Amino acid sequence: MAEFQRICLAHYHEIGLKGHNRASFERRLLKNLEALLRDDKFPVVTIHRIAGRLCVFLKEGTDWDTARACAEVIGKVPGVARVSCGYKCPRDLGLMTEAARIAMGEAGEFETWRVAARRNHTDFPTTSMEMNQLIGGALHELFPDKTVRMKHPDLTVGVEVVQNAAYVYAFSHRGIGGLPVGSSGRLVCLLSSGIDSPVALWKVARRGATCVGVHFSGRPQTSDASEYLVDDIAHVLEETGCIARVYVVPLGDCQREIALAVPPALRVIMYRRLMFKVAERLAEREGAKALVTGESLGQVASQTLDNMVCTDDAVTMPIFRPLIGSDKLDIIDDAQRLGTFDISSQDAPDCCTLFMPRSPETHAQLADVRAAEAPLPIAQWIDELVESAEIHDYRCPSYSRKKAPR
Ligand code: ATP
Ligand code: MG
Repeated sequence: MAEFQRICLAHYHEIGLKGHNRASFERRLLKNLEALLRDDKFPVVTIHRIAGRLCVFLKEGTDWDTARACAEVIGKVPGVARVSCGYKCPRDLGLMTEAARIAMGEAGEFETWRVAARRNHTDFPTTSMEMNQLIGGALHELFPDKTVRMKHPDLTVGVEVVQNAAYVYAFSHRGIGGLPVGSSGRLVCLLSSGIDSPVALWKVARRGATCVGVHFSGRPQTSDASEYLVDDIAHVLEETGCIARVYVVPLGDCQREIALAVPPALRVIMYRRLMFKVAERLAEREGAKALVTGESLGQVASQTLDNMVCTDDAVTMPIFRPLIGSDKLDIIDDAQRLGTFDISSQDAPDCCTLFMPRSPETHAQLADVRAAEAPLPIAQWIDELVESAEIHDYRCPSYSRKKAPR
């Protein structure tokens, strides 16, 4: 039996639509994959761009389970629309059929199948159509009890012939799609240890943003439990290159001052305004151009339209709310897929639960909010809070610690 080198193929479609940006997007995705798969855990030899795909070459002797595990990781990286497992083989129809047979044997249960061949170089004499027929015919004899179906088969055997080799695969699954992290600038995300904000961060990262988190803990008025949860969440996000760093800001003492000074109903809005102002300052330092939160319209008292208007007023930077129209159940599904749900479901007192009033205002008026805030030494607090921020760094290939983005 012939021994072929195992490969994973990362397919992307959206990048293909980006015209002249295509090359830089491919380079970005290639760099992200290289950095994320550099770990000793992954038996990766090298990654190359081949015929509009990124091909991850796996070490000799890599077994199926390990190749599958690699594909799992690759499929979660923003920019990857589909990932396949297969083999590199010589441009020989007999060997290509043999590689396809092995790949089909590994691909799991299927009833219907077809071959989809592509020829990238006309120096290979057999056309795509002929390859479909020849390889398809040979495979049909090897899998006589399976049915060939052109439309929506269970399994598609991909055959790609390029200049000096062929790539053959059968197992394939959807990736998360989107754009490679690092292709859409930098954002600062307000990251609580709750369910919503990690999903919000992930959504903008999937649109290509490099994300920096800011977490406000209730320390020293509460324990640091929420900080550990946020660190766990950041480690999950780090696996896909979505997060570069998290600033942890102990807000407890300022919250205490606010709780003593402003009407109870307005407390939460005041906390939120202060968070936004500190986040904005950190964003300026980071060269980030907008803030991101996990708010969704009407979900809780602080997320009514009136209250969001009052918190937006605290800053000049745009505030993105990727979950504004999402239902909680959909957000939970996303958090489960992302792998942050179980962490976020653990209870930790953060600054949100601290000094919570019994009945928070749901229709705050800007004039009242501004009046309540006026006597507070906000500018001084911002300086102190920014000064006291602790930095936690994570692996993020698209983030430069020295250089802020343009
Ligand atoms: P989440 O599930 O993200 O905690 P939530 O449903 O609990 O959101 P809120 O507590 O009103 O709703 O928070 C709304 C948003 O404000 C959060 O999604 C997050 O972006 C930001 N936020 C809230 N608390 C914190 C915090 N302690 N640190 C940083 N950001 C926070
Ligand atoms: Mg919360």
